[in-house]
Amino acid sequence: EPVKPSNFLRQIIEHDLAAGTYATRRWAGSPGDAAHHAQGQPDPAKIRTRFPPEPNGYLHIGHAKSICLNFGLARDFGGVCHLRFDDTNPEKEKLEYVTTIMNSVRWLGFEWNGSPTATPYQASDYFDFMYRAAEYLIEAGHAYVDEQTVEQIRINRGDFGKPGVDSPFRARTPAENLARFREMRDGQHEDGAMVLRAKIDMASPNINLRDPAIYRIRRATHHNTGDKWCIYPMYTFAHPIEDALENITHSICTLEFEDQRPFYDWLMERLIEGGLLSSPPPHQYEFARLNLTYVVTSKRKLAQLVYDHKVKGWDDPRMPTIVGLRRRGYTPEAIQLFTERIGVTKSDSWIDYSTLEGCLRETLDVCAPRAMAVLDPVKLVLTNWDDVMGAGKLDDCSAPLHPHHPELGKRAFKIGKEVWIDRTDFEETPPKGFFRLFPGNKVRLKYGHVMECTGCTKDADGRVTEVQATLVPDTKSGTPGSDAVKVKGVITWVAVADGLPVEVRLYDRLFLEAQPDAGGKDFIEALNPNSLKVVTAFVEPSLASARADQKFQFERHGYFVADGVDHTKAKPVFNLAVGLEDSWGR
Ligand code: ATP
Ligand code: MG
Ligand code: MG
Repeated sequence: EPVKPSNFLRQIIEHDLAAGTYATRRWAGSPGDAAHHAQGQPDPAKIRTRFPPEPNGYLHIGHAKSICLNFGLARDFGGVCHLRFDDTNPEKEKLEYVTTIMNSVRWLGFEWNGSPTATPYQASDYFDFMYRAAEYLIEAGHAYVDEQTVEQIRINRGDFGKPGVDSPFRARTPAENLARFREMRDGQHEDGAMVLRAKIDMASPNINLRDPAIYRIRRATHHNTGDKWCIYPMYTFAHPIEDALENITHSICTLEFEDQRPFYDWLMERLIEGGLLSSPPPHQYEFARLNLTYVVTSKRKLAQLVYDHKVKGWDDPRMPTIVGLRRRGYTPEAIQLFTERIGVTKSDSWIDYSTLEGCLRETLDVCAPRAMAVLDPVKLVLTNWDDVMGAGKLDDCSAPLHPHHPELGKRAFKIGKEVWIDRTDFEETPPKGFFRLFPGNKVRLKYGHVMECTGCTKDADGRVTEVQATLVPDTKSGTPGSDAVKVKGVITWVAVADGLPVEVRLYDRLFLEAQPDAGGKDFIEALNPNSLKVVTAFVEPSLASARADQKFQFERHGYFVADGVDHTKAKPVFNLAVGLEDSWGR
């Protein structure tokens, strides 16, 4: 079991478990709430975390950091992590997103709510409780209905260093507020006509405590509750209640929410005072979000790429979405390794994309079967083949499926008079330090024979159309004395006789700039116009049995995956997952 890197959240949890912070916990809320039946009796010995996505898009690599953190802490400390849909914003949310989010969490290797068959939680299941909580705040004098316009509310809220101005509606009586709030609920007012605000402190240095809105009128059909409600709770009000009702102990979110924590705590205190929730309440902790170079990690911006057809869908292999990474050849292990390696801190920073690529390389290296492939083929003719080997003869070659796992067996392929080699492995006039094919040089065809290059044929434009060489007898790999002839270069190849033509999609970074959306820049302008190049390659016959989603190392080229959507036996398609070494910026 590898030692887990420590992070400040681990230390907090270790402390809470040792101190028994949550040992005296009772059920949150009052009996009869639907939520209780779902969650069961909280186990005081357990921590509870949650991953609370809004179902308004596909999950991306930033979410993976949060997923691995929350589910990982629960796993490591014997606790439970909830998957909860934060679905309080009906206009932007769809069932399509609920489904893909569940699939992505599962694919990453986690099961939620402590059981493989559990249904995820959803904030919308707590709308009744939230409504009661709002009425309680009104009755206790902690909330009021404000009929100012949105614009007036914004202006009167003031700014840093400038106190806010009380709303003319702030002094209404609880009875009056309750009547208005019920009218809001009953659909007697237009959208936007009034909002319910918490009554806290219009002079607070923290703008978030200057009477934040907690309920608004919004005639929108909700994917879970349909048309039952025409008022919806604001995220800042809903979220702490969701945490409390699910007996969450450590509510972990990104740094942007640090200024919201005082409101979180204020709300918890008020609802505990009113007997609606029990003590101790969950506590919010913040960590730095993941910023990854050469991508954007915002559902809104990723949606723009999809809907403006800049990419071929949410699962385009260039997308930093979980579904895109998967199609690119990423594995759950690679993503988990990445999130562990980057750690959890409290200060914002950018992680280089090559860190993610390195994790993929490392995890695939140990398991991906090897194969030979020629991505930019040019024909090599062994002009003395018929004399040395016999006219029309093919010779058998073999190679281990994995160099460090002989038990996995071997792959078999042929060599003959004609083989495909990569165009870049031949130079008519070799640059300094070039050890591969050039006239007069000897090179080994990997797993095959040594040959000596004799020349090439070119077309009218000077482009090489064929390379010629002679086979050096008695040099076949694995036969006695085969290494008597020393060579400096070894090249990969595929026989014309048994090579399979396949489509290969060579992906490069989606953006040319490291921080495509920094400082409010138009990230669309930073798109890499050459992020996809499609070629027809030749691969060795062992790849005829490749299954969709299966990963390989194409020797000397990199890691490739049989495309999860388009690959078939009849029309094979491979995607470049990552090159063998970090070659960006070459
Ligand atoms: P986006 O801005 O992409 O829509 P979001 O934060 O609004 O992201 P949510 O669905 O609300 O998306 O996020 C669910 C959880 O994922 C939240 O707890 C959030 O903190 C976390 N999360 C989102 N983006 C990142 C990121 N880049 N790094 C780490 N955690 C993230
Ligand atoms: Mg959000
Ligand atoms: Mg967002």
